[in-house]
Amino acid sequence: MAVVRDLHGRPLRNLRVSVTDRCNLRCQYCMPEDEYVWLPREEILQFEEISTLVDVFGDLGVDKVRLTGGEPLLRRDLDRLVRLLAAKPGLRDLAMTTNGVLLAEHAPALRRAGLHRVTVSLDTLRPDRFAALTRRSTHAQVLEGLRAVPAAGFAGTKIDTVVIRDVNDDELADLIEFGRTVPAEVRFIEYMDVGGATRWSMRQVVGRQEILGILERRYGRIEPVLEDSSAPADRYRLPDDTVFGIISSTTAPFCASCDRSRLTADGIWYLCLYGQQGTDLRGPLRGGVSREALASLVASAWKDRRDRGAEERLQLRHRSPLIQIAQLREDPHLEMHTRGG
Ligand code: SAM
Repeated sequence: MAVVRDLHGRPLRNLRVSVTDRCNLRCQYCMPEDEYVWLPREEILQFEEISTLVDVFGDLGVDKVRLTGGEPLLRRDLDRLVRLLAAKPGLRDLAMTTNGVLLAEHAPALRRAGLHRVTVSLDTLRPDRFAALTRRSTHAQVLEGLRAVPAAGFAGTKIDTVVIRDVNDDELADLIEFGRTVPAEVRFIEYMDVGGATRWSMRQVVGRQEILGILERRYGRIEPVLEDSSAPADRYRLPDDTVFGIISSTTAPFCASCDRSRLTADGIWYLCLYGQQGTDLRGPLRGGVSREALASLVASAWKDRRDRGAEERLQLRHRSPLIQIAQLREDPHLEMHTRGG
């Protein structure tokens, strides 16, 4: 299969599929508002429509799909979608990112349906902090959800932690220790100035070097894991061989190797988390356009791709949240919870 490449030579490989814009947490760095404009229900793609679009992307070389949201486990019967996608022979990796609140209940069915891997977002091990950060008191459910992942037979589990200064930057080692017990590899994510992060400031970003410094003080020498990968995380090894990752999208972006794109729950396709315009795939799909015509629409948009969103943000002298709240209210597609993160 011919690989479709963009203007920077990046292949189209990795699709993040948001299955809902709804979420059962209200994380301060992602959904800080009380009210949101939700995508109209009738515009949300049916599972069969998602499956058709995944076929279109598969024809063009996409072999990694990640289900996300909003909170993907709020989408009813998600295991049915997983079953449809897991049956595609070209799909090498089928994963899901979840906040874990509903995971204990769903992990066994998702595993049986053929989901390969699970990533759980967890920013703190302290219930009071979790409540302050997410404005919900479901911390115990998240921990229970995480324990249910290996019990259901999943391997390769990850924990994603957004590190925010004076919020959870004193818990990095505790999270690594906790990850060992799951077992799960912890990845620390730099706080990003994306849509939704309307309270973002550079002061709150704990960058990769600082994260490494904190962990070296606790563990001693940390070695980089040398690997050739398009994964967003740079991986590191502690003296006892525990591996963790850092996703430094804010201070050292990986635009050069980014092979990701994002499909919203209503079928708008975005090429970059910072991108302001997407391509509507729902319209042509529901209009009866053929799989080949959809593939050519996608391929031509990818071939014209030139964005390096996070690198461009890095060039700014005065950095503030990407999008202001009024604009987010006008176009919910600019929100992180719509676009999937
Ligand atoms: N609800 C699911 C979850 O919590 O994993 C999936 C959607 S959530 C938007 C995906 C990821 O984006 C989460 O790990 C979340 O912490 C991360 N995220 C949201 N806002 C962010 C920001 N401003 N900077 C960095 N990561 C962010």
